[in-house]
Amino acid sequence: MIIAKLAALVEKMRSLKDLGNNLGCLLLMGLVFYVDLKLPSGVSFGSLYIVAVLFAFWSQRTRFVLVVAIISSVLVVAAFLYKPPVETMWKVYFNRSLSLFIIWVTALLCLRIKMAALELTRIASHDFLTGLLNRREIFKRLHIEMCRVDRIDKPFSVIMLDIDHFKVVNDTYGHQTGDLLLKETARILREHLREYDYICRYGGEEFLVVAPETPLQVAQELAERLRRILMETHFSFPALPSITVTVSAGVAQRIKGETIGALISRADAALYQAKNSGRNRVAVSGPSDLQ
Ligand code: GH3
Ligand code: MG
Ligand code: MG
Repeated sequence: MIIAKLAALVEKMRSLKDLGNNLGCLLLMGLVFYVDLKLPSGVSFGSLYIVAVLFAFWSQRTRFVLVVAIISSVLVVAAFLYKPPVETMWKVYFNRSLSLFIIWVTALLCLRIKMAALELTRIASHDFLTGLLNRREIFKRLHIEMCRVDRIDKPFSVIMLDIDHFKVVNDTYGHQTGDLLLKETARILREHLREYDYICRYGGEEFLVVAPETPLQVAQELAERLRRILMETHFSFPALPSITVTVSAGVAQRIKGETIGALISRADAALYQAKNSGRNRVAVSGPSDLQ
């Protein structure tokens, strides 16, 4: 209850901060426009709009950077039209064009930095080969999920999947084909999960599925479905006969108070049980696995 209230407060403060930043930008642009109008016609104050562009960039809103750049450009032109003509008009044209140039170079640079930062975030949270979440990101999300279910008192489960005898695929068809097969497997798994399930590449040929608000039995059925889908898939790559693989899976439902590490260990233990009982099957972590 307290956590929910705190989260709502943080959310409210964030939207207040956004509103403050937006108003700050508008005020800055208004101020620059006002001073620009007061200055003689030959003088352009327009390049100072970059302060508003940078402020918009600082407030973390990509689209707002563009909005500020567009409004600033309109204000630069508006001030030009408002002021009376002078003899040396070329100076006015030059100054105004320079202002527009500086505003747009700044805005485009800001967008470039923003996109690079987004790309870095994506690289840091996703697996390079399969495009799935990486282990670091899934731990982060598992932590959030854990806090959430502790609050709403709902179950969630994890499934650890491992491709059987994957080394044989590499040894028979080569590492590159192994990579392609991993990519395809990841795509098929992602495609057959619900929108709100998470999946990560946990290790070499191991995948971890996090199924929020899912009790053990439903997670077991999900694992079984994934196992069957993969077993029935014929992977075809150029110049190779079609390849089939199987997976083994271990399923565990989180018990209230259990750490992420303990939950994953139970799913892992169940996976090993599935492997030891002959592979191509799903095993479930039962109450006897709890310590
Ligand atoms: P098991 O049924 O016991 O899981 O047997 P396995 O052969 O799948 O497991 P093992 O741990 O013996 O071998 C895993 C293999 O996965 C060996 C390793 O080279 C391969 N592997 C791990 N990561 C990658 C990768 O990114 N690309 C490719 N092609 N192979 C990988
Ligand atoms: Mg394996
Ligand atoms: Mg493995």
